[in-house]
Amino acid sequence: MLIGVWLCQCFEIWGLKNKSILFFACMYDSLFNRVEDMSNLIFWFLVFFMGLCIGSFLNVCISRIPRELSIVRPGSRCPDCSTAIAFYDNIPVISWLLLKGRCRACGKTISLRYPLVELATGAMAVFVMLKYGISVSALIYFLLICALITISLIDLDHRIIPDSISLPGIAAGFLAAFLLPELSWLDSLIGILIGGGILYAVALGYYLFAGKEGMGGGDIKLLAMLGAFIGWKGVFFTIFAASLIGTAVGVAMMIASGKNLKFAVPFGPFLSAGAVIYLFFGQRIIQWYFYGPGPW
Ligand SMILES: [Zn+2]
Repeated sequence: MLIGVWLCQCFEIWGLKNKSILFFACMYDSLFNRVEDMSNLIFWFLVFFMGLCIGSFLNVCISRIPRELSIVRPGSRCPDCSTAIAFYDNIPVISWLLLKGRCRACGKTISLRYPLVELATGAMAVFVMLKYGISVSALIYFLLICALITISLIDLDHRIIPDSISLPGIAAGFLAAFLLPELSWLDSLIGILIGGGILYAVALGYYLFAGKEGMGGGDIKLLAMLGAFIGWKGVFFTIFAASLIGTAVGVAMMIASGKNLKFAVPFGPFLSAGAVIYLFFGQRIIQWYFYGPGPW
């Protein structure tokens, strides 16, 4: 909190009243509002490393859940030659770097995506802890983000959002509302109904109007799950943010490819991104929007 306020003051002293700079200062403040002391580096390294290991497990989930394989057995295997990966070759990120992104047995390239998923999960573990401290909220939101990383990449790969994550997720989010100080159970329940309802209405409208399906049922169940975890305000924020990011990415891809996008871009990753932005910055962005820049 103090760092953010201090940053805002510095910018004012320097005469930089540029709104966007103040905006970033306040977002910085929002991220670091629980934990000021970064001095315990070993603690943060452990949090990061734990996140890396969980990211490694998410990689397994991403490749196996769509094929309806067990995510526990057997252990990690090379996606190409199916040789079991030894524990010393399975250290997150480091093994990938040491093996220069290749399988030790067959020498085939192992996608850069594996270490990136691990790094992203590690970073999220740190960010969630910075934002929510050592708390039940931090644990619940980290599990939610892990589910969203898994869902997003499965959606990118296969254009499906597995019911085996989103449906239990709806129930888990509703139960989590009883543990989260940020969310009442009524908020969560309305979130489920609005999240499920809005997209269902849009999908139904599109179907009646265009005569074909525009949005998958998977997106509807995902938004209901998000509503369960972040409440109805979070749902509105998520739809708004996802549409903005989705439009920006869509336009960028059209410009980059130089032609009209005829294929559908999966919406799951954008909904996930919107929800994660809400977890970290939602309150601040809403305050910013309605009451102007802080400090509050
Ligand atoms: Zn191999």
